Amino acid sequence: MEFRCIDECSQCCIEREYYPTKEFGKIGVLILPKEKKEIEKLAELNKIKIKILPRIGISENRNQTPSKILAYQLMGVEKNGNTCPFLDTKSGKKSTHGGFPCKIYENKPLACSAYPLIETNPITLDQKCKFCKECGTADKNLNFETESLLKIKESMQTNGTYIWRYATGIGEQEDYGIIKTGWILEEEI
Ligand code: SF4
Ligand code: SF4
Repeated sequence: MEFRCIDECSQCCIEREYYPTKEFGKIGVLILPKEKKEIEKLAELNKIKIKILPRIGISENRNQTPSKILAYQLMGVEKNGNTCPFLDTKSGKKSTHGGFPCKIYENKPLACSAYPLIETNPITLDQKCKFCKECGTADKNLNFETESLLKIKESMQTNGTYIWRYATGIGEQEDYGIIKTGWILEEEI
């Protein structure tokens, strides 16, 4: 089956998830280090206030915080972490499939271009995507997504010994008690 966004859907630009667990808070849109400056520039040009936090870091030593950042994240504008700052929810314009348009569509982050593809071999789509929920899975019309995901994977390859994940401190009010903020050591490789 061919992948095609569901009419009027903007779900992946709005709903942010807790990842990998609630403790880490809600994640933002993944931004590679080489994309960060461009995204900041686009925000400035569009007069949009954005917040970028670190996401994944590496270190050589278990007792130090990351010495290198492999990825950042663009946080949502709502207090609970939802809704990308670049999503145009106000002008009444529509995207090609009838959802809210992206104000930086031509220059959007690779993570947005890759979604909902999360694995290329075998092709695996994020089951939270509305297409997957309504239509099942797809294995065609995913070339652009595949190319983007491979670029992300290539950029995030590392020889670092310890992998750290940044807890964002952001989420639903009822979860404030368990959400942490700051670097958490995730694994030794
Ligand atoms: S990728 Fe999925 S969740 Fe995002 S707009 Fe398309 S159908 Fe909706
Ligand atoms: S940058 Fe654009 S495509 Fe990506 S989440 Fe934001 S609004 Fe959606």
